[in-house]
Amino acid sequence: MVDLMSQYQDIKPAIDSAIASILESAQFINGPEVKSFQSEMEDYLGVKHVIPCANGTDALQIALMALGLKPGDEVITPSFTYIATTEVMALLGLKPIFVEVDRDTFCIAPDSIEVAISSKTKAIVPVHLYGQAANMDAIMAIAKKYDLFVIEDNAQAIGSDYSHENGKTTKTGTIGDIGCTSFFPSKNLGCYGDGGAICTNNDELADKMRMIANHGQSKRYYHDVVGCNSRLDSIQAAVLRIKLRKLDGYIDARRKVADHYDNFFANIPGIKTPVRTEYSRHVFHQYTLTFEGIDRDELNQFLADRDVPSMIYYPVPAHKQKMFESFGSGETELPITDWLTHRVISLPIHTEMEQDQLDYICSSIEEFLKIKA
Ligand SMILES: *Cc1c(COP(=O)(O)O)cnc(C)c1O
Repeated sequence: MVDLMSQYQDIKPAIDSAIASILESAQFINGPEVKSFQSEMEDYLGVKHVIPCANGTDALQIALMALGLKPGDEVITPSFTYIATTEVMALLGLKPIFVEVDRDTFCIAPDSIEVAISSKTKAIVPVHLYGQAANMDAIMAIAKKYDLFVIEDNAQAIGSDYSHENGKTTKTGTIGDIGCTSFFPSKNLGCYGDGGAICTNNDELADKMRMIANHGQSKRYYHDVVGCNSRLDSIQAAVLRIKLRKLDGYIDARRKVADHYDNFFANIPGIKTPVRTEYSRHVFHQYTLTFEGIDRDELNQFLADRDVPSMIYYPVPAHKQKMFESFGSGETELPITDWLTHRVISLPIHTEMEQDQLDYICSSIEEFLKIKA
């Protein structure tokens, strides 16, 4: 699905020397690379505070911890997402309220949010799935009306631009109260291990989250709140500084691959290519097709037999996971989510894709369709 080896070869001299100098300095934790990455990321995103942390799951957990919620408080979230988004809610004793996604964007459907709001609702966690932004103008309007926090799960959409109704453009992850992202190696901005970050324009939340990520410490060995230990290490920060400078180019490369797929699959009956909304610049963390009247699982196997690593993100929606059985969420009716989990397939997409790889993937799918016709 990704080719991190070819990408590394392209930036090898810079990476190798950056890592070597950290080994020489022996400042593995909280070194100057982390501070530099933090401020470069703040500039790139156009946000006041970036708080690097250990991974994207921690980012979400720390964000929720900073809101001062009580056990039993409700958080509205899509079920059609990676488990980390909702797992941290359960971990903190919060109740995830799973709502429907939009069939075209795969992201949380604003009209399903408002009907799910109760007196216990405290926050909304939209996910910018596959690299496409959720409808943030609509979500922020609902949040304002009902006085709810918004935490964006931006793990799959770092670098995406969002065009607001008022004509302004901002980066995803900087629109809600807090944005969370992951630097897992296969993400659009990935390091060579685990990493994550939280961002916010709110000074008070930033102070709180910095404290929580550092054992609730206000000054050395004085701990004011229960926190956790979540750090980005210097080596990962150094890798990310190099790759951040290339991120826009990486996004362009992904969009080119998506254009190629779009052209190839246009007008093939039963295949729906990803919709690109007018309000967001899709950064194609995944290129995900929706199949109707074609056996998706059979195609997935057919591609696997030809060494094409297609993937199903995600075969089981969060509300149907065993993990949430005791929450009774399995009873929730989410027909669009269920429909999508049986019909989506994600094709390989990355920054180093060659024309012959694309041709092979496309012709393999064409072959499958011919056999089935
Ligand atoms: C990857 C991902 C996460 C978690 O990030 P980790 O760094 O793996 O902890 C959370 N949410 C979404 C949508 C993701 O894709």
